[in-house]
Amino acid sequence: MTKDSQQTAAIQVALRIRPLTGRDRAQPRFANLAQDDVLKVHESTVQVVPHNKLFTFDYVFGPDSTQNEIFSALGDKLIQKFVDGYNVTILAYGQTSSGKTYTMGTAQHSGRYNAEEEGIVPRAMAQLFDILHQTDSAIIRPPKYTVKVSFVEIYNEELIDLLNSAPPGETPPVTIREDSKGHIYWTGVKEVVVHSTDDVLFYLEQGTQNRATGSTDMNEKSSRSHAIFSVSLRQEKWMPSQTSGLSQASLSRAASPTPSRSTGSRQRPPSSLNVRPSLNDLRQPEEGDWIITSSKFNFVDLAGSERLKRTAAEGDRRKEGININAGLLALGNVISALGDSSKRSTHIPYRDSKLTRLLQDSLGGSATTLMIACASPVEYNLSETLNTLQYANRARNIKNRIERNEVEEWMTTDNIELLRGMIGKLRQEVRVLKSGS
Ligand code: ADP
Ligand code: MG
Repeated sequence: MTKDSQQTAAIQVALRIRPLTGRDRAQPRFANLAQDDVLKVHESTVQVVPHNKLFTFDYVFGPDSTQNEIFSALGDKLIQKFVDGYNVTILAYGQTSSGKTYTMGTAQHSGRYNAEEEGIVPRAMAQLFDILHQTDSAIIRPPKYTVKVSFVEIYNEELIDLLNSAPPGETPPVTIREDSKGHIYWTGVKEVVVHSTDDVLFYLEQGTQNRATGSTDMNEKSSRSHAIFSVSLRQEKWMPSQTSGLSQASLSRAASPTPSRSTGSRQRPPSSLNVRPSLNDLRQPEEGDWIITSSKFNFVDLAGSERLKRTAAEGDRRKEGININAGLLALGNVISALGDSSKRSTHIPYRDSKLTRLLQDSLGGSATTLMIACASPVEYNLSETLNTLQYANRARNIKNRIERNEVEEWMTTDNIELLRGMIGKLRQEVRVLKSGS
């Protein structure tokens, strides 16, 4: 396995330090602060100046980094993976007002549109459509694709569909289920087909508006809830088979009333079933199958990671705080269970929260996960910043697990020669073992 594939399989952690905002500087004692009084960046290491502690991440972006730099360094590759058929997740972690929403670009407000300030989601979608639209016109059967988005919020361990603005009594209950293959799916969540980045921006804005309704203080609520913007991509690609001319198989297929279907992912899509192949078609050298790839990209803007003690811990608010911490706590536990090789065979506590349950498919396994830890450069936030750095540092442990599991990764290869060789060897071994006993 090459170094590159190890890197892409591993969980990556990026740290982004936001610049001082007008609000920070409005406080007289911070008016003369420099951007790097608290956190100093040296390449991919950050120094916590007052504690003289160092943390290393896969990427570290200082206060001057632009949205464009962030996307080129992080988003670009992930979209390519997504198009290649992998599940991808980006998690934005950090205390409230550390820049999670700004970095992810999950909030869209029509009145304040500024292309340079766009976050990861709009850029990722623009890139996705660019790739999907790049069709080679020489291809006889061009690939087909469907892109769908959904936008949900988890607040008080309750799932809220941000794309469904119907009154609560009229919306179907949202449930998280698992199919027989162990894949997670949600019922009752609206999934809408999108054809362009503009469509996506429209739904982001709708979701942002719905997020604000029903709460007296939008910031209050958004800092206590997780927002998950999900994109599912289904691609159908025509894969010509090696044989040319009129094979026996294609003859019998033409003679039977319905085209014979192969199993699994090589199924012909239902949409093309009603077009009976004519004998002429079958004589074409481009005999083959439609290969179907499905992948999901989750953009997760996590609840603020600040600890309860700093919030007004009273009544309902206290409950919210605890529940949100439960989601982040469960995420932390899942991350460390995945990262700790001694726990590898024990179960991963996905069921401990709605957040981890929803993200089950995207955490560990063959999925690609990026955590963007967001931090504030202000001394007042120092203890939360340290917590963020420690949490993010723990997330990096997953890397070890994935490197050690590279055999499993390798098993997902589509290199048939490799697999044949391996099966041949194993059969040989079984024969030897059997004859020896
Ligand atoms: P969070 O979602 O973590 O609570 P926000 O993304 O809302 O934080 O950021 C808090 C404030 O800081 C917002 O006003 C946002 O526009 C600003 N901000 C955050 N990161 C940056 C950045 N990298 N550059 C400029 N402004 C930023
Ligand atoms: Mg936010």
